[in-house]
Amino acid sequence: MPASTQKLLKIDGSTGEGGGQIIRTALSLSMLTGTPIEVINIRAGRAKPGLMRQHLVCVQASQAISGATVTGAHLGSTTFGFTPNTIKSGDYTFDIGSAGSTSLVLQTLLPALLFANADERLKSTVTIKGGTHNPLAPTTDFLTEAFVPALAKLGMQVDIDLQQLGFAPIGGGVITATIIPFLRRANTLPFKLTERGELVNIALVASLLNLEYDICKRELASAKSSLVESEIDKTLITTQNNKLKGMGEGNTCYARVTHQFGEPHTHEMQTHKQHHEMFTLLGEKRSSAENIGSRLAGLVKRYLFNTDALVDEYLTDQLLLPLVLSGGGEFSARHISGHTETQAWLIQQFLPVEIKFDFIDNDKILVKVIA
Ligand code: AMP
Repeated sequence: MPASTQKLLKIDGSTGEGGGQIIRTALSLSMLTGTPIEVINIRAGRAKPGLMRQHLVCVQASQAISGATVTGAHLGSTTFGFTPNTIKSGDYTFDIGSAGSTSLVLQTLLPALLFANADERLKSTVTIKGGTHNPLAPTTDFLTEAFVPALAKLGMQVDIDLQQLGFAPIGGGVITATIIPFLRRANTLPFKLTERGELVNIALVASLLNLEYDICKRELASAKSSLVESEIDKTLITTQNNKLKGMGEGNTCYARVTHQFGEPHTHEMQTHKQHHEMFTLLGEKRSSAENIGSRLAGLVKRYLFNTDALVDEYLTDQLLLPLVLSGGGEFSARHISGHTETQAWLIQQFLPVEIKFDFIDNDKILVKVIA
């Protein structure tokens, strides 16, 4: 249906979590459904309300891929209007112009470009310049190691290439994503990521840019010894450190935890059915490398010992929209955050789907999407 014939949807940006995610998801869903939107009270829940650079680029990039008409979007604005037209696959480049998160801009465009055409040959490439490793956002590592593999289980093919690292405050990072249009296959099994199987391995990786090499080694040693002290099988832990090239300086580390999943004791649980969960931290001037390493181990231990759910907090809110768009399913989550609740609310403003959270206990919730 042409966008102009659809009724305007007014979205109060102060609802629930009240952050940038409402703007990004509203843009994604506006483009996908052809619904004109007006977003008010933008980021009312944040210390500096209104559109920051990253959010403004989300609006501008969405306008570029969908030929939208936009009103009132500028730095600091607390209201804007967005009327989409047709989404076009293609090759795009966007520059945030600051260290704002490239991951969050990409996540805004992904759903629209996945559904831009039903022809697999018409893939899109999106290059985004800005920050690749930001606090309070998924790092590029989180996207490539956890988000992209989860999308693949939904049948969505996305490839993300980290071309250049970018830390705050300088930025200067570059990612390029290749997006193949999504086709729902008739024989696809319903998505079910509920039963945690055996731990396959824990990959600890530390990287740095123009800083003392020793930092990575100390982070990894501290994280590994903390895990081993908690009787995690040390033969399952691997470590790797990377010295990277680029502008500015920075340090990041992550733990990628891989489990099998599927119904226990059936042939369904095969090695190719693996779920990757990611925990990421950025180096901080006020924290020692040992401290960062032990905090990283703490995140892993909370996930391993407090719950037998498969999906941790951040992937839960990020998986919700792709799951809805791929036709629904269910997964077990450790925690339902304000982001996840707000995301569920917003999706249901645009689409006639049911999103349910069944609390098994405090540390395990079954997320069910009936699309
Ligand atoms: P907002 O605060 O509204 O801008 O949304 C932040 C987004 O970043 C949410 O989708 C979070 O899941 C995600 N996020 C925040 N911190 C992390 C982290 N450490 N790892 C992965 N994703 C994160």
